[in-house]
Amino acid sequence: MQKIINVGRFDTQTTNFLKLVRINICMDEISRKDAIEKGLMRYYTGKRCRNGHLSERYTSTRVCIECLSDWRAANMPKIVARSNEWQKRNRPHMRQYHKQWRERNADRWRELLIRSAEKRKRAKAQQKDSDAT
Ligand SMILES: [Zn+2]
Repeated sequence: MQKIINVGRFDTQTTNFLKLVRINICMDEISRKDAIEKGLMRYYTGKRCRNGHLSERYTSTRVCIECLSDWRAANMPKIVARSNEWQKRNRPHMRQYHKQWRERNADRWRELLIRSAEKRKRAKAQQKDSDAT
């Protein structure tokens, strides 16, 4: 059985709310112990969490994924600030990491480059339109 929940996504620069993303939750009961043995990241026991959600929990921390999503939504500015701070302190590491990611995901990287170029083009065209009026 499956259940769909909505999770918020945020702009990492402005911390503005961007959109809701639908996540499929597996509602097949499995104990945490079995999940660990099978190497699953999430498990589901059929019991409600302390906030009343019926959803999967992370195997590593036992945290309910809906609770975590709510917490992230409430604390996004703090999370983003901490993440930006960390990235600033670890620039060489991040540079290396991004380089490796681009090598591993060459196709996806090309796609993103094209998309951002189109976005810039659209923004420029829009700017021109609003200047004309
Ligand atoms: Zn919960």
